[in-house]
Amino acid sequence: MNKRKLWSLVVLCLLVFGCPMSVFAGTFEETSSGWRYRKDDGNYARSEWVLDQGVYYYLDGDGIMMADTTTPDGYLVGGDGSWVTERQVTGGYVRTPYDNCPYFYDPKWQTFIFDETTDYAGVNDTLVMSAVRGITPVSELSEKNKAVYEEVCMFLTGFDYGASDYEKAKKVYEEITGRAVYHEGKYMQADDEAYSILVTGTGKCVGFARTYKLLANVVGLKCGIREDGAHMWNAVYVDGEDMVIDASTIGTSADFYLGRQKAECPYCGHKNTFGNRETGRPCANCGIQIQNPKYN
Ligand SMILES: [Zn+2]
Repeated sequence: MNKRKLWSLVVLCLLVFGCPMSVFAGTFEETSSGWRYRKDDGNYARSEWVLDQGVYYYLDGDGIMMADTTTPDGYLVGGDGSWVTERQVTGGYVRTPYDNCPYFYDPKWQTFIFDETTDYAGVNDTLVMSAVRGITPVSELSEKNKAVYEEVCMFLTGFDYGASDYEKAKKVYEEITGRAVYHEGKYMQADDEAYSILVTGTGKCVGFARTYKLLANVVGLKCGIREDGAHMWNAVYVDGEDMVIDASTIGTSADFYLGRQKAECPYCGHKNTFGNRETGRPCANCGIQIQNPKYN
C-alpha cells in the first residue's frame, strides 16, 4: 500500500468514526464573532441553554455564546460563558462579571489595588475583595474576614449586574441601611469594621463607609472614602460623576444623595453640587450665582 492510499484510509476512518462522535456530543466552534454551539442534530443553538460536559452555557439569538453578562432569562454567566450558580464549586468563590479585571498587589502597603485612585484609603477591605475576585483563597482569610466574605456572597446572590450605576449605588445603600443601625454608645474599635456592620448589625461612620466601599466595589462601582477628621463617608461614581453618599446618616435615602445635580461654574470651572430643591446657588469657589441645570 502506498502512502497516498494509507492517508485516504486514515481520512475515511476519521469521516466514519470521527464525525459521528462530535455530532452526538455537540461541539463548540470558534468564529470571528464568538463561540457557537453545534447541537447533536447538526443545528446551531440559538436563544437557549446547552449542557456541555456538565456545564451550562447560553447561546444568544444569533447563536453566539454569552459571557460576562446576564442572560435574557436573568442568569449570570462568567467570562468563560459558564453559568454562575449561586456558589460555583469550581474556583471555590462567588463569581462576578468583574473577576478578570486588572489589579496589583502593593507589598509596601500590603494591599491589593484594584483602583489606584480609591484603594489607598487607610480603611479598606481589599483582602475580602481579592477573595471575591478569586485571587486570595477564602481559606486564607481571617475568621472575621471569612464571615464578611460570606455576607458579601449572600449579597451578590441574584444581584442584577445589568442595573445602572445609580441603581447599584442605591441597592448597596439600602442593603447596608437595612442591615445595620448606628451605634449610639461609646466608641469601640469594632464600630469601624465591616464585620460589625454586616454581621453584628451596628457600627459608626467608619464602619459604614468602608462597608459601602466594599459592597460598591464588588458590584463593579468605583467608590472612594471621604473624611474630614471627625466623620467619614463615601464618594460613589455614578456614570463617571463622584456622588457624596453617607450610609451612616439616619432618616435619609439613597435618592437624596444620588439624585443631586452637579454643574460646572461657567466662570471658574468649579464643580458645584446642588441641594435637591435648590434652583440656584453662589459658586462655592468664586461666588458667582449659578443655576441648577435640573430646573433650567
Ligand atoms: Zn465659580
